Amino acid sequence: MAIWNLGSINIDHVYRLDHLPRPGETLAAASYVQGLGGKGANQSVASACAGADTHHLGAMGPADDWVIDRLSRRGVVSTDILRLRDQATGHAIILLDGQAENAIVIHPGANRAMTPDMLAGPLSEIRPGDTLLIQNETSCQVEAARTAREAGARVIYSAAPFDIEAVRAILPHVTILAVNAGEAEALFAAMPGDLPVEGLLITRGAEGAEYRDLTTGTIHRQAAFKVHPVDTTGAGDTFAGYFAASLDRGDPVPEALRLASGAAALKVTRPGAGEAIPTLPEVLDFLA
Ligand code: ADP
Repeated sequence: MAIWNLGSINIDHVYRLDHLPRPGETLAAASYVQGLGGKGANQSVASACAGADTHHLGAMGPADDWVIDRLSRRGVVSTDILRLRDQATGHAIILLDGQAENAIVIHPGANRAMTPDMLAGPLSEIRPGDTLLIQNETSCQVEAARTAREAGARVIYSAAPFDIEAVRAILPHVTILAVNAGEAEALFAAMPGDLPVEGLLITRGAEGAEYRDLTTGTIHRQAAFKVHPVDTTGAGDTFAGYFAASLDRGDPVPEALRLASGAAALKVTRPGAGEAIPTLPEVLDFLA
């Protein structure tokens, strides 16, 4: 089956500085690195690395062709990505000082400029048994989820960045809701009753992850693998992409949790976001 991912594409511009600029100050950066990020792009890379037939649905500006090359080289089918002439590719300006402080400006750009009619073509290709991944960094989430469910697909929604109104709107069309520990707390506080989904995936960083099958009441738990963490950016996205790909090829939930945990653990041992997501052979090696 295919995995479709309506997801954000962000270019991360990372500047290292002596200190963060004060209002009115002009500073030269000590270094600059450009990388591919965005929760959507990261989840597509993870899902493709895990071996799933992964199609990214999303939008960018007219430039930045290297992004498409990067996604394609990692196995993501990128032919449905929209190029919007009057929008910038989504990006993040990330300022890091010598210590642990940072300041970040995000411009969603093309990610939030998609309209349902722009996506109608690719969404009509979704077949029964396919999976649609969605996060909270694009437009058209509800429309896409509804269309996919009507087509008989599984919809996995990562409620990040967390916004309870967005969650409430999309939940009736979601099969599996995925949250991290902080998002789970906000979710349970705002919606204390039963959730209208089949499954709830909660990742808890170094404490591991659990999947609650809400149709049977079964809870599957997976401990995190012990690693020396270097950079936890993209851990949740690596987990989500691998988990979706594993379910897509018919693995039972405990197997999907184990594979996703292995992939995410390996990711946190490496610096970077999308480029640091491990390949399936690397993950299988790690788990062996
Ligand atoms: P997010 O990045 O969305 O906040 P989490 O922090 O919950 O997500 O991490 C997702 C998954 O990544 C965890 O369930 C775990 O499997 C793995 N992970 C994250 N941090 C660590 C860590 N320090 N050691 C091992 N695994 C980790």
